[in-house]
Amino acid sequence: MSAHGEWTTWEFCPRCGGMAALGWRGGDLVELDYVRECDLTAQEAAALREDIAGRR
Ligand SMILES: [Zn+2]
Repeated sequence: MSAHGEWTTWEFCPRCGGMAALGWRGGDLVELDYVRECDLTAQEAAALREDIAGRR
C-alpha cells in the first residue's frame, strides 16, 4: 500500500483459479495483472470487479 492511495490485492482468476494481481486507486480497479496471462475478456474482468465490490 502506497502513500498515494494505490494498492494491490490478489484474487483468484475466474478462468484458471490462479492468482491475479489487481491494482486499485481510490477504490477503482485500475490494473489487472494475470499471473498466467489468461487475458480475461472485458466481461470476465467486470464480473470479477463486481464480485470484489460485492464483498465490501
Ligand atoms: Zn487465469
